[in-house]
Amino acid sequence: MTQTTDRAGPGATASPDTQLAIAVHGLHVRYGDFEAVRGIDLDVRRGEIFALLGTNGAGKTTTLEVLEGFGTRSGGTVAVLGLDPATERAALQVRMGVQLQEGGFVEELTVGETLALWQRLVDRPDRPERLLERFDLRARRDVSVGKLSGGEKRRLDLALAVWGSPELVILDEPTTGLDPESRRRTWDAIQELQEAGRTVVLTTHYLEEAEALADRVAIMHEGRVAVTGTLAEIVAAQPARFSATLPAEIADLPELRGTTQRDGERVQVRTDDLQGDLTTFLSWAAARGVRLPDLRAAPASLADIYHAVRTDQMEVTRP
Ligand code: ATP
Repeated sequence: MTQTTDRAGPGATASPDTQLAIAVHGLHVRYGDFEAVRGIDLDVRRGEIFALLGTNGAGKTTTLEVLEGFGTRSGGTVAVLGLDPATERAALQVRMGVQLQEGGFVEELTVGETLALWQRLVDRPDRPERLLERFDLRARRDVSVGKLSGGEKRRLDLALAVWGSPELVILDEPTTGLDPESRRRTWDAIQELQEAGRTVVLTTHYLEEAEALADRVAIMHEGRVAVTGTLAEIVAAQPARFSATLPAEIADLPELRGTTQRDGERVQVRTDDLQGDLTTFLSWAAARGVRLPDLRAAPASLADIYHAVRTDQMEVTRP
């Protein structure tokens, strides 16, 4: 389906702010009759790692495509490194590295040939050897791209995106399908970019990835940004939970601020006051001589946050 353009589209650029790598205001993107992005604002500061999280089909890839200059907006203003990606893509390309959700490789070329081709195409200097080493692809140098595993292709794609350490790197689900060691190496590469003063925007479905890497996140749902801020702020806005198994003969429960659910011997509590309620619960158990070998306490999970976003319970936190 083709994307359509109407007023306030390309050409309408946000005023340049030197502190911001990306400034998006009121972005709309349509695919025919369907509005995939419905008026979002995003600010990404220079030098930060920013993670775009969200439900399937929320509009993350569509948003990234507009930032990269591949997608057409139907409304709003977008400035990427002070440029409008819709009209100044060539100037932007020199300063930006991009990893798409699916790489567009020439399957017949080997890994080494692909990197050599990149070396000729991209103005930023870098060494194929460095990237083969960094992304653990040295042993695959002479293998054609078509014969790489999904994870190896992902790593090659990432190597091309970070080639020459560009000012801004945009990564669409960089670690999907990677084994734990490859994921760790990818995180290291992303952190290295930040240490070198670069800006990174990525999408991910993994909370632990956003936790490990991102300075700030935005969570999208159905074409809108439901919540934005640091992950700690977003998690803190949702109730934590704790659970324990109680002996069957204990019928009563202490009075808590949170919501208590008892299912046979299992007790689950959701609470905004984890410390207070847990203290009350533990004192109550100690007074009865009850042992709690499988006691568990945890902050809200991404599943809890997505549920809150889906059901409009999320209080929007702004940086
Ligand atoms: P996921 O997490 O599943 O990758 P996403 O947040 O990246 O999802 P998008 O790929 O941006 O979501 O898609 C947003 C919506 O736009 C979806 O409903 C999708 O079906 C629709 N969409 C995406 N590309 C097109 C297209 N070329 N034509 C029509 N609809 C599209």
